[in-house]
Amino acid sequence: MKQVISVKDLEEMVRGGKDVRSLPEGALLTPLARDFLRDLEGAKLYKASLAKDGRISEPEKPVTSKSSKAEIDAYFNSPKVNALKSQICDVGRRLWQREYVDGNGGNIAVRVGEDIALCTPTLVSKGFMKEEDMCLVDLEGNQLCSGNGKRRTSEILMHLQIMKRQPRAIATVHCHPPYATGFAVAGVEPPTCMIPEYEVFSSVAIAPYRTPGTPEMGMLVADLVDKHNTILMANHGVVAWSHNDVEDAYFKMEILEAYCRTVLVAHQLGKPVNTMTPAQLQDLLKIKQSLGIPDPRIGLKECELCDNEGWRPGVMCAVDGTADRSTVSVDAEAEVLVQAITDQIMNGSK
Ligand SMILES: [Zn+2]
Repeated sequence: MKQVISVKDLEEMVRGGKDVRSLPEGALLTPLARDFLRDLEGAKLYKASLAKDGRISEPEKPVTSKSSKAEIDAYFNSPKVNALKSQICDVGRRLWQREYVDGNGGNIAVRVGEDIALCTPTLVSKGFMKEEDMCLVDLEGNQLCSGNGKRRTSEILMHLQIMKRQPRAIATVHCHPPYATGFAVAGVEPPTCMIPEYEVFSSVAIAPYRTPGTPEMGMLVADLVDKHNTILMANHGVVAWSHNDVEDAYFKMEILEAYCRTVLVAHQLGKPVNTMTPAQLQDLLKIKQSLGIPDPRIGLKECELCDNEGWRPGVMCAVDGTADRSTVSVDAEAEVLVQAITDQIMNGSK
């Protein structure tokens, strides 16, 4: 029988320093494993193209937390890492301009080696960071370098736990956007099936509240990053990871925040909102899968797709898997009717 290779197998190989091209002959790859390989190849080609341009020169042997102090310092000040520092400052400015951070809130991390990451400093507004403020840490959170003596963010453990649990996470962004944080305070997962962009790029879950910066908080978030790229942190904020770059992790915030605002506006208009059909959602999930973005709904039957329990308790898409379109719309009408009657009863009893 042919050997089936899953994304977990590949992740283990990468973690163990093995070459993923040395797969057994005739091995079958699962769709997610294929995406994983494509991302890996894409990242390598990108690096190679930059190297050809002379814009980035990769060190001869990869720098790790075990490299000499001189090697780590040289890498920390290399054009490659300096370019990432400037990208982090840019994302920080956008977080502040969009009012996704307040005071010294929010933090950003980017993986720059097997067990090292660049991150933002503590006690600095994300809107006014300079490249020399950035810190380099190992995956346990020990600080290895800083440009001007600043300490790493106190919430770094959460970023590192995400990176350890989800090897594809190369960048993480954490902030407190008000609308999304409102959902996190209420403990409500944003309802689904309303806007394509959100369905394609975001996979949201809620992690319970723990004191920020504690290993326990990081663990609860890390438990969710296998299937989700955007985690609402109860009574706190949001953290997102990307397998592309730091700007992509930041985009997750813009998409989530715009979505939460839109959902609230839609529900204030006094009309039942229209949602996508399970078949329409299925199409979007196919695109999502092809982009290598995880979603726990990938592979579910259409009838299992739209569970908006948290938003409107007791209301759930209950389309029979064998139903044709006409039954679907009757079900939708029935749902609207039930909602209208429920509203009447609720208003009458006040
Ligand atoms: Zn925070």
